[in-house]
Amino acid sequence: MPPPTLRGRSKNRPFGFLGSKKVQAGLAIKAQKSQNREMISVAEAIQIVRQQTLALSTERVPLEHALGRVLVEDVVADTDLPPFDRAQMDGYAVRAQDVKEAPVRLRITGESAAGRGWHHQLEEGQAVRIMTGAPVPAGADSVQQVELTHELKDGTVVELLEGVDSGKSIVQRGAEIQAGEVVLRAGTTINAAMMAVLAAFGYAQLEVFRKPRVAVLATGSELVAVDQKPGQDQIRDSNNYSISAYAELAGAVVERMPLTGDETSLLKTQLAEAARRSDLIVTSGGVSMGVYDVTKAALKELDAELFFERVALRPGKPTVFARLPNGTLVFGLPGNPVSVSVTFNLFARTALLAMQGTAEPALKRETAVLARVVKGTTDRESYLPAQITSNDDAELVAFPLKWGGSSDFVAFALTTALVIVPANVNAIEAGSLVSVLRLP
Ligand code: AMP
Ligand code: MG
Repeated sequence: MPPPTLRGRSKNRPFGFLGSKKVQAGLAIKAQKSQNREMISVAEAIQIVRQQTLALSTERVPLEHALGRVLVEDVVADTDLPPFDRAQMDGYAVRAQDVKEAPVRLRITGESAAGRGWHHQLEEGQAVRIMTGAPVPAGADSVQQVELTHELKDGTVVELLEGVDSGKSIVQRGAEIQAGEVVLRAGTTINAAMMAVLAAFGYAQLEVFRKPRVAVLATGSELVAVDQKPGQDQIRDSNNYSISAYAELAGAVVERMPLTGDETSLLKTQLAEAARRSDLIVTSGGVSMGVYDVTKAALKELDAELFFERVALRPGKPTVFARLPNGTLVFGLPGNPVSVSVTFNLFARTALLAMQGTAEPALKRETAVLARVVKGTTDRESYLPAQITSNDDAELVAFPLKWGGSSDFVAFALTTALVIVPANVNAIEAGSLVSVLRLP
């Protein structure tokens, strides 16, 4: 089983530690220092993203448009659930004390169906025919299921073959929820099951955060559009598609800008254009140290504030995070498609969820058993592609995928999670517990 050092490490360093006020204050200073190109940790970078990202404005939407949106306010039950004592079975509502000596015959005095209850007092010796979901009449304290009964005399009498305990097959009014209780918290992302909850409590309209507008912009003179046949030395742009897809999964409305090549002036124009209507711009490529690495140059010429430009991360070290003077945030992701997927999900996704008021915007670390050895590197944390399954003990198991490095996006297409190898750890052996991030 796992070496104790690794186990201790994943326990002692949950993402939650970032929340403390002290850490935040320290990081604010670091964020400024990063102007001098300091390499910061992934955790620090995520913290800076959270600090620099403001929640967007809110809007009222009809319930049918609420899926995937984030609640601005707590959702409160406006009624008890069930709203009345409810039958759980088809059968007969009776007084338990009347049927102690079964078999026993009772006079059928009425019928209670869902939506059409029998609103009288049930007296001694009486039974009411009742359907699943129908209100239990006053005076009755139990329901005997229809299978243990039969009707006699043209339906005026029922014979119960067995007695019932008081309370049987009845869900008491308010047993599930009581009026006034908070059922969903502000900051929750609305899923399909929650749609039913919102409907049940009458939220025909509700307040949610506005969807972030994201512009996606690929740099690189080698790129051609997906519908083109690449010529000599050319490749098709694929990053714009993965970035757009991840952004949409994170709740954004995406606009794809034209390919910009490697010209600072064209990139500048495109950035300025995109900034006019976007909350966030995500670029790819052009952030390494090469002659044609134009992204930072363009950002600087636009007077952007750079929060970080190097993260102790493999893959994805040269990731840039900046803000343009009008407030639009920019992620300059590296060009390699795998780096794009990793850095988008660590940083840009966090910003998009924070913009929508999500309580915990960063991907959550989980613990998994490692199925194969993985190798780390010095100075940088590694986020390595893996597939997640579970074993017979209901533990998560991470199968690291063989991959040809940060450009191997075909192998990455099968990836469902990233295995985290801390910096300066040479290797983690199979059978160890590791931290993983499941990808959207
Ligand atoms: P760069 O970060 O610009 O040096 O690019 C690193 C690698 O990623 C190069 O091999 C690029 O050709 C490749 N690359 C850059 N942008 C894209 C893109 N939009 N789609 C696919 N590959 C890309
Ligand atoms: Mg490039």
